[in-house]
Amino acid sequence: MYDVKSMKAEEFISDEEILDTLKYADENKDNIEVIDQIIAKAKLRKGLTHREASVLLACENEEKIQEIFELAKQIKEDYYGNRIVLFAPLYLSNYCVNGCVYCPYHLKNKHIARKKLTQEEVKAEVIALQDMGHKRLAIEAGEDPVNNPIEYILECIKTIYSVQHKNGAIRRVNVNIAATTVENYAKLKDAGIGTYILFQETYNKESYEQLHPTGPKHDYAYHTEAMDRAMEGGIDDVGLGVLFGLEMYRYEFAGILMHAEHLEAVHGVGPHTISVPRLKRADDINPDEFDNGISDDIFAKICALIRVSVPYTGMIISTRESQAVREKVLPLGVSQISGASRTSVGGYVEKEPEEENSAQFDVSDQRTLDEVVNWLMKMDYIPSFCTACYREGRTGDRFMALCKNMQILNCCHPNALMTLKEYLEDYASEETKEIGAKLIERELERITNPKIKKTATEYIQNISDGKRDFRF
Ligand code: SAM
Repeated sequence: MYDVKSMKAEEFISDEEILDTLKYADENKDNIEVIDQIIAKAKLRKGLTHREASVLLACENEEKIQEIFELAKQIKEDYYGNRIVLFAPLYLSNYCVNGCVYCPYHLKNKHIARKKLTQEEVKAEVIALQDMGHKRLAIEAGEDPVNNPIEYILECIKTIYSVQHKNGAIRRVNVNIAATTVENYAKLKDAGIGTYILFQETYNKESYEQLHPTGPKHDYAYHTEAMDRAMEGGIDDVGLGVLFGLEMYRYEFAGILMHAEHLEAVHGVGPHTISVPRLKRADDINPDEFDNGISDDIFAKICALIRVSVPYTGMIISTRESQAVREKVLPLGVSQISGASRTSVGGYVEKEPEEENSAQFDVSDQRTLDEVVNWLMKMDYIPSFCTACYREGRTGDRFMALCKNMQILNCCHPNALMTLKEYLEDYASEETKEIGAKLIERELERITNPKIKKTATEYIQNISDGKRDFRF
């Protein structure tokens, strides 16, 4: 029944294979010999299978867990260095015809304020985001073929790319909208999107159907096979995710790795990113009513194991997580975080009054972008606003090749410094500017290729002189 290359959801995410995997993991979780073999394989930095990774997830031996964490940190450093890419979500519309029981946008919620941005409002939101310093957005919308048809989403993307306010620009728009058709994915590709992101929510078909009782999202196969359609439509970069808290985390973990293995086996390229959202309180949603919440420690273990299992896949942590949790998981392999997010429709221009709540969930990390940038630098990370790969056509397997050859450090490191320099010049507070200037000076010294070092230094000087948008 299980077939990694099958195009049928129930075959590439076979329930039987996941249950066998969990049984295998339970049988081997105390077998130090097997665990050591798997860790030794992980040290080769070629990743792990869902079975191997599931054994490590089940393992409770403190010493081995620490070894896994150390390895995750090392892999993160080798492949991604100390850069953290920043982005913000932009909520376009919360009209939705689905019945997702964990999401306040569900159709039966009659007291949430329903909003949909006009193109003028999109422009105003984008200006507000540019004024913070953002260059990369993830657009979000509910599923509603009447209120938010694909034409609306395409028009919004066009508007977003068209806004040039002062030195600002949105250079990459990622898209998180409901599963759709190959034709619509091709339209998104033509509109110049970066990554197409779709969270599976849960890989367990039975739970999935209960959690999505009504609406087009009820169809498990259509949702699970969406990434294959996206790739058929020409989208190179896709982002996976599950919503932790809905189902047993060990089931989800095996499922998401099987999904990654499927994409790699069929399309020759795995997911560009994996997101690890956890269920949050929202308008009419109480996360305590769901049985499968995970502790911060388990969450950290999942992050470390994703890093070890799929070293070339970026990992995203949103503002659903607090500053403290973000600090805990950043070194374990996170490559992208959102900053200063608002999950309400129109929330960047104006903070919503309490009685008019249109937000999707409560944000834990409420800091401004400047505070986030400052905080990252104080921990020796380079906040990066880089969008170069996508704009240079380094997507899909070309990006993966860069990553697998560890060239990401030669190319991305100077790009991160140049985009940080733009941020410091145009948007930073005095204190952030000061810390940033020192960080850039220090980090330029780490570039080993003398030609790249010279050019990057010149470009950074050019940015001080008022020029913008350099990249390798
Ligand atoms: N409507 C699209 C879809 O169905 O995929 C777009 C996704 S929605 C705007 C973004 C994601 O937010 C969902 O995929 C879900 O995982 C997450 N989400 C929904 N309710 C949430 C909650 N209460 N707490 C945390 N995340 C939530």
